[in-house]
Amino acid sequence: MRKIITTIISLFYLLSSFGQPPAGSLKITHLTGDFYIYTTYNLYKGTPVPANGLYFITNEGAVIFDTPWDTSQFQPLLDSIKTRHNKSVIFCIATHFHDDRTAGLEYFRNLGIKTYTSKQTDELSKANSKKRAEFLVDKDTTFKIGQYSFQTYFPGHGHTPDNIVLWFEKEKILYGGCLIKSTEDDDLGNLGDANLQAYAGTVKNVRKKCKAPKFVIPGHGDWTNPMSLEHTLSMAEELKKKNNH
Ligand SMILES: [Zn+2]
Repeated sequence: MRKIITTIISLFYLLSSFGQPPAGSLKITHLTGDFYIYTTYNLYKGTPVPANGLYFITNEGAVIFDTPWDTSQFQPLLDSIKTRHNKSVIFCIATHFHDDRTAGLEYFRNLGIKTYTSKQTDELSKANSKKRAEFLVDKDTTFKIGQYSFQTYFPGHGHTPDNIVLWFEKEKILYGGCLIKSTEDDDLGNLGDANLQAYAGTVKNVRKKCKAPKFVIPGHGDWTNPMSLEHTLSMAEELKKKNNH
């Protein structure tokens, strides 16, 4: 009997977790090799929306792309990485100035983690009272950390004037951030800072630079379908057409 009740209770939690993720939850999913996706949730226009970040494990320590959107999850993310991999986080880079990317920069910086954004992101963060990084890159840069290396690439104005993508050429992992939408999205999301004319060309630049990605990670939603790049491009082209009329 007890077993049945336990099963029912677990089933209840499992089902309710599909409907609405509890506030303060952190989901970590293995991507490939030393690469993991972490997801936290925040309210956007009254509904909980997931935001994706990435971390990977090197022989020098762990590296985080973007910070949790949910501000209660900064320390739990660091703790989970420590527990799972016995590594401390040594580096974090945020891909544009919005909260779902930068919220944890100051927290991480105060713990001695090396935090980075582009110079352009820093200017927008300053102007919009967002958290800021300690170190800035002012052009596309290759970072080598432990056995891995990745490039920062600014493809042009799309989601925001400062959006960059991060590209592992060897592993063929493209971290698109909020410039790239999930295949489950049917619009380009928050366009408050977007350039509707330039967006499609910007995504084309990403496609040109980051050839044949095996994995494409969008800022929000499901990342298991690498067609998200093409999907984003067709939505951006549609938007441009609509805007020209
Ligand atoms: Zn976003």
